[in-house]
Amino acid sequence: MANLNWTKLTQGLDAPPTLVNWLNKASEEQLFRINLKELSRQVKLDVATLIDYFLRAVLAGQFTLNWAYYCRVCGGMPGFKHNFKELKSSEQCPLCSAVFRNSLDTNVAVTFTVHPGLLPLPETLSQHAFDAMVKNFKEQKSSLPQEFLSGLEIINNPLYHELFGDDVLSTEESLEISRITLLFTDIKGSTQMYSQYGDATSYRIVRDHFKILFSAIEQQRGVVIKTIGDAVMASFLKPVDAINAALEAFQAFQQEKWEVLGGGLEIKMGVHVGPAIVVNLNDRVDYFGNTVNLAARIQGVADNHMICFSRDILNDAPVKARLKAWTETNASKIYRRTASLKGIDGPVELYSVV
Ligand SMILES: [Zn+2]
Repeated sequence: MANLNWTKLTQGLDAPPTLVNWLNKASEEQLFRINLKELSRQVKLDVATLIDYFLRAVLAGQFTLNWAYYCRVCGGMPGFKHNFKELKSSEQCPLCSAVFRNSLDTNVAVTFTVHPGLLPLPETLSQHAFDAMVKNFKEQKSSLPQEFLSGLEIINNPLYHELFGDDVLSTEESLEISRITLLFTDIKGSTQMYSQYGDATSYRIVRDHFKILFSAIEQQRGVVIKTIGDAVMASFLKPVDAINAALEAFQAFQQEKWEVLGGGLEIKMGVHVGPAIVVNLNDRVDYFGNTVNLAARIQGVADNHMICFSRDILNDAPVKARLKAWTETNASKIYRRTASLKGIDGPVELYSVV
């Protein structure tokens, strides 16, 4: 046992009793590079609850957050950083000499270690971990755990965004992401709305619409990446979360009694999923790449009051199930069409739901 009074330490940090109990009994070894996916199974708490507690505990100086990157060729772990901003686009593996690109959801794993100011851990723990890694390498086994909390799961966490959102990459670096879901929204005819109802009224409408949208995005564990005028770009770990956020916002928009707007607010939404790169733009996390462009274009061609999405979104099994339930409950259907999108080669198959 590590002899720390976690009952006292975790006060005010929203730690569930089973977790406090585990912490109180934890050995020094258990408090070293905690894998939240494994801990989740042990203490039977969902990963989201654990992430929330550990992020607050990092802010309170009780844990350090480790961004460990593994070699994508041999699976060794060349090192880790304590800040997201220290991660590099590519690294050379000291074990197999391969140069590899860091991918936030493929080879970057986040763990938590008790803060040395609270409990200095013996050097032997790091040495044992290193020896085990070298042994794996010799036996041609990867040291990357089967289940791990990925860097993407952390940067796409709403609480991380709120507490550590200013910890961004160096402007020189970009990290790969193998799969991210993006939602773009925009208000139809907002220029006309401003000229018809005046700035103050229009601003109130836009502000209320942001409130509804942001709440739906947060409910589905998404993160608002940025707003561009009245448009919103948000990111999600899973396609179904983005579709749920869009449907939820859509329903809320319909129920809202918009002052002056007789026919209600006309909103257009687009959803797409695929690989992207994460960068630092104006000191905030931002995404770039073909997937981002395509998601924005899909939003651009969405009809009023429609959620438009790509075939990659439709082919996601949880999305299929969700849309089936939605269309049955709301007596609606999924429309299919092909469209030419600016800057994208060839016609693109698109689907819409209302
Ligand atoms: Zn290697």
